[in-house]
Amino acid sequence: MSEQPHDEDCIFCRIVDEEIPARTIHEGPETLAILDANPLAPGHTLVIPRGHYETIQGVPDGARAAVFDALGRLVGPIERATGADGSTVGFNNGAAAGQEVPHVHGHIIPRFDDDGGGPIHDVIASPVSLTETELDDIAARIVDAVDA
Ligand code: 5GP
Ligand code: ZN
Repeated sequence: MSEQPHDEDCIFCRIVDEEIPARTIHEGPETLAILDANPLAPGHTLVIPRGHYETIQGVPDGARAAVFDALGRLVGPIERATGADGSTVGFNNGAAAGQEVPHVHGHIIPRFDDDGGGPIHDVIASPVSLTETELDDIAARIVDAVDA
């Protein structure tokens, strides 16, 4: 594996380097999973690529696949260990989306039938209402951007 990008001022890079302690629950060649220091629920876990990439679109293929692989492998054990009924799995991708630590990390948040929380759809307080034409237009623009 080639040398990973690193930011010495980044808290997650410092955890990867074991300069700062964390409760590690999984270690892979490209990933680390730790308990969140300020959990929303027992077992709230962060899956982190070892390399310093700020957002998902910046993560190269191998590490991106490794992050998803770790998320998928860990969700079941985390739910079993915590007695959770489900889990919310997601990324705050970019500051506008609420990302506070600019080193990609996927959240696994154990969910319970009676936890009072909501679905991912609750992240936007006032959802947009788009016409069929507007939906066609945005779909076409995204397809063009993917092909560009
Ligand atoms: P974000 O808002 O960037 O998606 O989430 C950052 C998460 O990192 C937060 O849930 C926060 O509690 C967690 N966090 C911040 N600093 C530390 C730390 O030093 N150690 C651990 N384990 N988690 C941290
Ligand atoms: Zn970092």
